[in-house]
Amino acid sequence: MAPLISIKNGDGPCLLLGGGNHGDEFEGQIALRNLAHELNPNDVSGQVILVPAINLPAVLNNSRCSPLDDKNINRLFPGDRHGTITEKIASFIYDELVQRADYVVDLHAGGRSMHTACYAQMHRYEEPEKTNATLELMKAFAVPIGLLYDTEPDVHGNLDTVVEELGKPFIAVELGGSGTVSPQSVAITMRGVHNVLVHCGIVRGQIDQGEGPTAIMGVPSGGFVIAEDHGIFEPFVDLGDVVEPGQPVGQMHSVQRPDRKPIVHHIEEGGQVICRRTIGLTTHGDYLYFVAVPLDAGI
Ligand code: ZN
Repeated sequence: MAPLISIKNGDGPCLLLGGGNHGDEFEGQIALRNLAHELNPNDVSGQVILVPAINLPAVLNNSRCSPLDDKNINRLFPGDRHGTITEKIASFIYDELVQRADYVVDLHAGGRSMHTACYAQMHRYEEPEKTNATLELMKAFAVPIGLLYDTEPDVHGNLDTVVEELGKPFIAVELGGSGTVSPQSVAITMRGVHNVLVHCGIVRGQIDQGEGPTAIMGVPSGGFVIAEDHGIFEPFVDLGDVVEPGQPVGQMHSVQRPDRKPIVHHIEEGGQVICRRTIGLTTHGDYLYFVAVPLDAGI
């Protein structure tokens, strides 16, 4: 039994809001529970579906993946109703919730191992009008940065991908991380979910732009840094720092052989650091950093 709240009244669009897709990311889990108490059904035109614990076993285990089958639900969509428990949950969300939604917003953070700036992200659609509609939804969430991806290396099975394939506006939002939650990150999330309710025409009100309009940015292909070896990672730069192409951003120390020189990691392309690994012990292939750059005109 996973918690699910539906508030429906009159005519209007359907907004699906998800949290707890990864169990160790808390802003969405909290904001959607708050929203369930705050929303008066009489103020709703349409339907709001709140899923504060998309992967409930992972939420209960404070982990990214489910402890029942060791699966990351965000690589399993559209799911399999005859599969493992996490595949079954993904199938229910896709078949029963995504199908009836007009807009989908999935609330994330960096989990226990990463910390992110507050940013929303979306992918470009084949049809420009769908890209524009999703851009407007992303701006309405009112976080400082909105990432527009043309493509990403790891999209198979993401909730993003299956919603986009249906042509529906989808944004994911990253709101902090390191396995923590703060009053500020919850406040930003609450502002964002209220804003999207107004933007979608489900609740009347004004959009609160917060600290200003969202800057639309992109992640350059050389804007990721991935661990080259197992070890203890020492960061040189932090969230918000602006790094230059080729700049050393950290180094990896051998755990058992401190006599070996640490491996210095460089970033290929420059930009503003919007995500960094926050725990030392690291394995070959783990993400360490990524950066974003302002997108030129012609979005
Ligand atoms: Zn996540």
